[in-house]
Amino acid sequence: MVLIDGKALAVKIQGKLAEKVARLKEEKGVVPGLVVILVGEDPASQVYVRNKERSALAAGFRSEVVRVPATISQEELLALVERYIQDASWHGILVQLPLPQHIDEEAILHAIDPKKDVDGFHPTNMGKLWSGHAVMIPSTPAGIMEMFKEYEIALAGKRAVVIGRSNIVGKPMAQMLLDANATVTIAHSQTQNLAELAKTADILVVAIGRGHFVTKDFVKPGAVVIDVGMNRDANGKLIGDVAFDEVKDVASYITPVPGGVGPMTITMLLEQTYQACLLAGEAGSQ
Ligand code: NAP
Repeated sequence: MVLIDGKALAVKIQGKLAEKVARLKEEKGVVPGLVVILVGEDPASQVYVRNKERSALAAGFRSEVVRVPATISQEELLALVERYIQDASWHGILVQLPLPQHIDEEAILHAIDPKKDVDGFHPTNMGKLWSGHAVMIPSTPAGIMEMFKEYEIALAGKRAVVIGRSNIVGKPMAQMLLDANATVTIAHSQTQNLAELAKTADILVVAIGRGHFVTKDFVKPGAVVIDVGMNRDANGKLIGDVAFDEVKDVASYITPVPGGVGPMTITMLLEQTYQACLLAGEAGSQ
């Protein structure tokens, strides 16, 4: 079994990115800027946002976290997003999810300019991804694709099963695997005989949000297993959706939690921001 070291790969890619950012600054006087809007005080979101800002600054980006109270109205939040859309010095805008219940999440995500939508959640970007013309893509599946590349895991002709169909992970993951010529099945909470289906996979991606749900009974010997899940066990420890200790003996490649998919997600977010900055330059807005 080979452990897919997402942390090491993230360090490597972020190092290269820092060099590219430094070069861009030197040659064009432009610094990629990422603004993250955090609504309310959700503890998990606070941690994610802090990590994003820290990584962005370390790679030489401009980065700002705009913290607003959970009581902000939808109109006020839309106005805030609009302010950063109009400001050409910010290339990426990310509104941290989840949002408070009184705010229409979809309306906010749709309001972000697709060119600054570094999360890739805007319908224009989703549509482009599904039609094979991806520009901005969701960071988590993008990071997983980088892992396949780094570890030279062949996808063409392979049978891939993605468990989970969220807009931010499962669906874009399935499309990216399809684009890479895998034969893809998407499973979800209504899927019958899930373990049996999962066991047909050469590539198994699990993104459901249930700690240690996928046991060795779900895994074909020699399969590549990617664990997206981030859950807390009874002791507050971070655990994945895959029962790592037993699945590692069956899989050919496996990602750990922590240290697998998570660090790659932030890395790809920075990569998207860098790309958004380049695109803005090409469009003449810099
Ligand atoms: P989500 O929006 O809650 O979607 C979960 C998906 O899993 C749904 O499609 C759901 O099916 C399916 N599901 C739930 N229980 C299932 C079961 N028993 N059997 C089969 N399918 C089941 O979650 P998400 O946002 O995609 O996130 C999934 C996990 O990944 C979470 O633990 C999250 O914290 C983690 N995550 C990690 C990263 C990272 O960077 N590492 C990034 C994003 C998310 P239905 O559609 O039928 O309800």
